[in-house]
Amino acid sequence: MKKSLGQFLSQAQTDGLFRQLAPVSRRNKGQVTIKNRIYFDFSSNDYLGLAHDKTLKKHAEAALEKHGFGATGSRLLSGDSNLIHQLETAIAKFKQKPAALVFNSGYQANIGIISTLYTPQDAIFADRLCHASILDGIKLSGAEIFRFKHNDTAHLETLLKKHRSQAKNALIVTESIFSMDGDCAPLKKLVALKNKYNTWLMTDEAHATGLFGARGSGLCEALNLSAEIELIMGTFSKALGGFGAYLACDETTKDYLINRCRSFIYSTALPHPVIAWNLAAINLVPSLTKKRSHLQKISAHFRSKCQSLGLNVLGETQITPIILGKTNRAVKTAKALQKRGYWVLPIRYPTVPQDAARLRLSLCADHSLKMLDLFIQDLECLI
Ligand SMILES: *Cc1c(COP(=O)(O)O)cnc(C)c1O
Repeated sequence: MKKSLGQFLSQAQTDGLFRQLAPVSRRNKGQVTIKNRIYFDFSSNDYLGLAHDKTLKKHAEAALEKHGFGATGSRLLSGDSNLIHQLETAIAKFKQKPAALVFNSGYQANIGIISTLYTPQDAIFADRLCHASILDGIKLSGAEIFRFKHNDTAHLETLLKKHRSQAKNALIVTESIFSMDGDCAPLKKLVALKNKYNTWLMTDEAHATGLFGARGSGLCEALNLSAEIELIMGTFSKALGGFGAYLACDETTKDYLINRCRSFIYSTALPHPVIAWNLAAINLVPSLTKKRSHLQKISAHFRSKCQSLGLNVLGETQITPIILGKTNRAVKTAKALQKRGYWVLPIRYPTVPQDAARLRLSLCADHSLKMLDLFIQDLECLI
């Protein structure tokens, strides 16, 4: 056994695909400290800089003092609390859906929701770039999977035409903002297709929650489509600086999941301070319009600067991936940028397709135009 593990690891090293952890001693205000060196941080999903927010810390501390840390059990046993019900009421309102259910993480939410609602008689049509947790949920469900080309609604329609009628229930699933490409799903067209072919639609708003729409609830809100999308999933772990995830849906779906969803039933509930943090963050986010518009402004500026260097930069959001192709090129460029004081990580196979290795630069509200311009100057010297 150990020998085959060793063989895998040495092959990964040869291919530039060996992954290592990099312990951080501090991460705040767009900077990160690793082994006593401070870097500008381009790797974090803390898009609004909330992970150190003073008000949110106070709410978490107060909950710690009042309720203690651990939930003491799963929600159907001893772990249910008022706080988590308050959080669900707040999310339902925030996401403009009748109900919401909290999950312990985005990964647990996606595998649980999809595998509980769908069966081997069903068909699931998934964008080719959907997150691993969505794909794992589909595998667990046993439903037949059809993957459509990224954001290609014509290809999706071809697949629906051919395969929808054989299935009992069907689902179209996508991320609303794509985590590795930084672009938006064509939600309006997806809603039209789900109506035409009688399927449900599920969106994963992990990278949109906090950032899009007038109240910052996500892309479904921004496009005024919340009422038409049956399953709106999202996380507290990115722009909200918290931890855990949610599904916003109708009451019946929520009750069904409480009764059947294994990743919900067989896991201890979130700790009280985490729930209090998430609740305070949901209440805070609608007021953060300035941070959202700053982030949009610097993202557009940064993207156009990269393009003027002739770089292949994807997307249209705070996630700005620079495609470098070969794994080794991405690894080398990331290392050189790290030497110059920028914490940039290469994203490679199997997270992204082979030969689409990239630098994934996450911009956040704590970044300034000045710092981004310095980064562009340094990048220009390296490519
Ligand atoms: C991060 C992420 C998840 C997983 O969420 P966690 O709370 O980190 O488990 C799910 N879907 C997408 C698109 C993500 O980016």
